[in-house]
This record gives sequence, structure tokens and C-alpha cells, in this order.
Amino acid sequence: MKTQTKQCLDAISHLSEGACPDREMLRCILQGRNTETAAFAAELAAQTRDRVYGRRIFVRGLIEFTNFCRNDCLYCGLRRSNKNASRYRLTEEEILSCCELGHRIGFRTFVLQGGEDAYFTDKRLCALVRAIKAKCPDCAVTLSVGERSAESYAALRAAGADRYLLRHETADASHYALLHPAEMSLSHRMDCLRELKRLGFQTGAGMMVGSPGQTEESLLDDLEFLLELRPEMVGIGPFLPHHDTPFRDKPAGSVELTLYLLSIVRLMLPEVLLPATTALGTASAGGRTAGVLAGANVVMPNLSPPGVREKYLLYDNKACTGLEAAEHLSELRAEMKKIGFAVSMDRGDHACCGK
Ligand code: SAM
Ligand code: SF4
Repeated sequence: MKTQTKQCLDAISHLSEGACPDREMLRCILQGRNTETAAFAAELAAQTRDRVYGRRIFVRGLIEFTNFCRNDCLYCGLRRSNKNASRYRLTEEEILSCCELGHRIGFRTFVLQGGEDAYFTDKRLCALVRAIKAKCPDCAVTLSVGERSAESYAALRAAGADRYLLRHETADASHYALLHPAEMSLSHRMDCLRELKRLGFQTGAGMMVGSPGQTEESLLDDLEFLLELRPEMVGIGPFLPHHDTPFRDKPAGSVELTLYLLSIVRLMLPEVLLPATTALGTASAGGRTAGVLAGANVVMPNLSPPGVREKYLLYDNKACTGLEAAEHLSELRAEMKKIGFAVSMDRGDHACCGK
């Protein structure tokens, strides 16, 4: 047992010194997880983050602008088969007002997230991106609207979108098939991610931790895929069940494992923009703070109109108040200050962006 901990500590040290890990080294790190190795990984990850970005936490205003979705991902409360979901779609004017309000509060990045909603054609979405950029030219626009064609991504990039979040969810094809209906495939997801990178988007991949059927091999596939893709952002959060999905009775993912993976990913990709996710904040009361202490440097408070927040229910009990709410930025500032961080209202681009 001692030897395993020692080998794991050595592997974490090597990772922090810039070693490119092979699968066996990553396996050693995953298998050696315990309180001692997790604390060590978090400490080195925090040092790495501080060296690259300083003790600043970037905030993004999250606008959940539609919960219509043509997809049927088995884990998600927005899946099209969920007839109990109360569907909404913000108008262009409502979305722009969210951005205006956010801009006044000080946000300089907006994340427009939604289901794969056919209403938002390229024409409509490009017009929206252009309108936001015209109103708030000093802001970055991040899109998170799922899989689209290469032409669509190119048009959105040309319209001015800066970043795109598309979690790969799992890099293990057989696991992917357990989480998604047959018409969705991991290879298409990966093609989308490569295309987004090629187009010059700051691109975000990522996975749920503890989703049904996930194994150690799946997580190793995830880490290897992240090393190969080198995304600018990585979203990692625990899987949480939703009562109207086939996974309603499945256990939630582990907060501790999520935190450990945040640290490992920070060490593997030192410049990565790494959010302490809403799912982490929902799964555990101090989840967001713990995420920052494990190496995260981004939080995404909710800027959607309060009346629709409860309808964007990906999983049960999703947090949308307190630290999660954009209008309570002062609470977030106080919380971050307590652990020695300043909330930065800059655009918060990836450290290599423009270099
Ligand atoms: N539709 C877009 C997509 O799938 O990329 C963006 C919105 S989708 C709701 C954003 C993310 O929510 C997904 O990538 C997934 O990782 C996460 N998510 C969905 N259901 C979840 C659940 N039950 N637990 C944790 N995260 C979940
Ligand atoms: Fe739709 Fe995204 Fe939910 Fe899948 S994860 S059902 S694509 S909103």
C-alpha cells in the first residue's frame, strides 16, 4: 500500500515537472488516489495555476437561453424524451438584455448555453453573436450549443464567437454508447472538437465523473484524449441523476474523484481554463471553493433571467442561487477572498491566446 502511495506521489511530481505521462503513469496516479496523494496533487496544481494565472478567478456570465433539445442523452433532464420538462426559449431581446445587465455588473465573458434547438439556425445564432459583439465589443462570447456542421461552426466563428464548449463526455466509445442513443457517436463528437480547434475557437472539452458505466479505463481514455486534443478549457463535473431520465436511480459521481481529476488536468495542461462547475457546487456545499483549491480558475455564475433558471434542470437540485447567481457576485468575491483569491472581471482568455 505504502509503495503504491509513494509511486503515485512520484508520478504526480513528474507530471508537475512537465513529464508527458503515458497510460501506465496515469493509471498509477488514478489507482494511488487517497487523502495524501489528493492533497499533494491539489497543492502542486494550485502552484501551477498561480504561476500561470496568479491568484485570480475568472468569472463568466452563463446564459442558459433554451432548454429545447433534439437529442436524447440518457443522463440529461433536457433530453427530448423528457415530456415533463417545461420548455422555454429566450428571445433575442431577452438574451441581449442579459448581456447588457451582465456588462453593467462587470462581466466580460458571456457563455450562451442551450440544448440543440433547431430554432437557432446559423442565421439566427450568427445574428445574435454579432448583436452581442456590437453591444459589448470588449466581451468574449462563448457558445455551448452542441454538435453542428463544420460550415455552421465556421459561420459562428466568422460572426465573432471566441470560444466553444463541447464536452466529449467520455472518450471510451463503448461507454459513450451507454450514455447516448445510437444516432450519436463519439467519433462525430471528436470530429466536432477537432474542427472547432482548427477554426481557432478556444475550445472546451470535458467529461462527467461517475456517469453510469464509467470505469478506470474510461477515465484513462479521457485523460489521454485531453492530452492529445490540448483543449483550452476542460469542464469536469460529477454526474448527478435527474428523476425523469433512465439514470434516475444511478448514484451521483464522487466529489473527491472530481477534485482529484481537476488537479491532474491542471498539471497535465498548466494553462488550461478550468471551471469549478455548477455540478460540483450542487454535489457538495463547499464544492466550488474546493474546486478552486484543487486547481480550478473559472466560475460561471448564472446570468439567465431568474424566472427560467429552475427550468434548465440538467439534474436534480441544480444550484442556481447564492454563489451560483450572477447578481450575488459580492458573495462570490467574499468567498474567494476568504481563500486568498480575487475575482477577475477580465475576459480571461487562455494564457496562450494571441501568442
Ligand atoms: N447541449 C449542449 C451539449 O450537450 O454540449 C450544451 C448543454 S449540456 C446541458 C451541457 C453539459 O451538461 C453536458 O455537456 C453534460 O456534461 C452536462 N450534464 C448534462 N446532464 C448532466 C447530469 N445529469 N449530471 C451532470 N452533468 C450533466
Ligand atoms: Fe441535449 Fe446537451 Fe442535454 Fe444532450 S446534454 S440532451 S445535447 S442539452
